Amino acid sequence: MADESTLRKDRGTVSSMFDSIAPVYDRLNHILSFGIDRRWRRALVREACSAKVRNVLDVACGTGDVSIALAAEGLDVTGIDISGRMLEAARMKQAGGHVDFRLGDASSPGFPPASFDCVTIAFGIRNFEDRHKCITELHRVLRPSGTMLILEFSIPENRLWCSAYSFYFKNVLPRIGRMVSGQKYAYEYLPASSFAFPSPDLFAAELRAGGFSDISYRPLTGGVAVLYKALY
Ligand code: SAM
Repeated sequence: MADESTLRKDRGTVSSMFDSIAPVYDRLNHILSFGIDRRWRRALVREACSAKVRNVLDVACGTGDVSIALAAEGLDVTGIDISGRMLEAARMKQAGGHVDFRLGDASSPGFPPASFDCVTIAFGIRNFEDRHKCITELHRVLRPSGTMLILEFSIPENRLWCSAYSFYFKNVLPRIGRMVSGQKYAYEYLPASSFAFPSPDLFAAELRAGGFSDISYRPLTGGVAVLYKALY
């Protein structure tokens, strides 16, 4: 596993990185994942709907795809993010929608305890500087019996698939990302932070240490992404 401590994850660095790629973020996501990212987010939204929740806090909501999809299912959604530009893109996209998009940090979300039935995080948690603090804070804003759903990149277990994926992620993706966005750092940080993220079992242990129980996860696309479910 790559060393997480070598990556700069302070709020200023991460928010300005996402500010700088906000205008091309969605387009590049779809290009770089061959459109599969839509399927991953749909899996999370389906899971939230099947948990029969009413209100959701979508943390690190970015340009708002998950928030907007949850709201379209009739849920009451608040989306928070530290990047003002990502939030601007989200607000423009929802055009007349009902998601409450706000500037907010996962490490101090600023809601009273037990405010939400569900917390979702899609491809956000690997960017958090103090993951333990964020997990405990998000546990605090959940109602007892609430559900946390997290989507994050992972490393496939199958050797062949892992080699092909690693080659693409480390060599091809950063070049395309740089060409389209004009930003070098953001698309080098993406594979570096994904490879540095703990394995599903280790991350499940972090969720447990943050107060969650009944933790399960399932790999998507052969383990390129993982959908975690954790109960209050
Ligand atoms: N959830 C969106 C999606 O599925 O496309 C956006 C994911 S994007 C890869 C990661 C987002 O996490 C960025 O918009 C970034 O600003 C946000 N982020 C990073 N650290 C954060 C923190 N501590 N609190 C809230 N948002 C954060």
